[in-house]
Amino acid sequence: MKENLFNKTREELENYFISIGEKKFKALQVYEWLYEKREFNIDNFSNIKKEIREQLKKDFSTDIINIEKKQEDNLTKKYLFKLLDGEFIEAVVMEHDYGTSICVSSEVGCNMACKFCESGRQKKIRNLEAYEIVEQILAIEQDLQKRLSSVVIMGIGEPLDNYENIIKFIKIINDPKGIAIGARHITLSTCGLVPKIYELSKLPLQINLAISLHASNNALRDKLMPVNKVYNIDNLLQAIKDYLQATSRRVTIEYVMLDNVNDSKANALELANLFKGMNIYVNLIPYNETNHLEFKRSSKNKILAFYDTLKKSNINCTIRREFGSNIDAACGQLRGKQKDS
Ligand code: SAH
Repeated sequence: MKENLFNKTREELENYFISIGEKKFKALQVYEWLYEKREFNIDNFSNIKKEIREQLKKDFSTDIINIEKKQEDNLTKKYLFKLLDGEFIEAVVMEHDYGTSICVSSEVGCNMACKFCESGRQKKIRNLEAYEIVEQILAIEQDLQKRLSSVVIMGIGEPLDNYENIIKFIKIINDPKGIAIGARHITLSTCGLVPKIYELSKLPLQINLAISLHASNNALRDKLMPVNKVYNIDNLLQAIKDYLQATSRRVTIEYVMLDNVNDSKANALELANLFKGMNIYVNLIPYNETNHLEFKRSSKNKILAFYDTLKKSNINCTIRREFGSNIDAACGQLRGKQKDS
């Protein structure tokens, strides 16, 4: 099968042109067609001579993943995509006062099996290739006729379980001649694959890192997130400290509020104690209830009390503004429905 042209970093494309005996600046020209002019038909790359265009067409396709379904409310749009092999993935677009953000999927399914997560019910089928993540952005920008300003890798899948493709994806969208999304507008969220966090800290990327913690002690986290049995909170804390030191970037700690599970005052104090003095902030996430799973969302008052306790313990903290709970925008919900129907 031909490779997809959106799978190539600019450097890889330069090497390709060198390998066919051409000048490497052709890569820049191709990037300008694809990402600046959004021209996906190779025949129309008019500043590239016909002979090279024919070679490009032989070696690459520029097929884009298909939008299968779109659901929307005022501030949120959820897209279901059908991939070329018939698998489904989803992406969510959110309007903020500072711009439009997209939450992309990183894998078809997920193997992390977090108990409260819809995607965790369905095993991972395969990794997404870098182009399939890039194209979530391209297809949506085409549909909305506007550019997206920030990207969070928080859709279906565990990005660090698809490490190489994710790094490639980040390079392509971060390239000033690519989609040109600044590193500080890119957030990667992980359930805590510790060795990969160490690897990530060695890369010269200025992206934001978010850690899905969701529990204040190992006994509780073991129950909610099987990954904790492999990399527990102590291992994770060490990796976060290393990351903070290596990058000097503030890390986000995500904490989904589950009624009577992890939302007590004792949990808040324990959480504050874990991160005392560290350059992190905690993002409290109101749980998006799903039909299949028994967890309930903590009440507003409990979330506020938890927030207060963290603040009083000198932990920076925010409560995530809610998006899309009425359009199944929680991780994996739309894809789950497509599979059940
Ligand atoms: N695997 C990565 C990224 C995908 S999940 C990770 O674990 O971070 C993105 C975030 O959504 C995670 O924090 C996850 O725990 C959370 N999440 C999953 N299901 C949810 C739900 N129903 N309501 C609210 N947050 C949910």
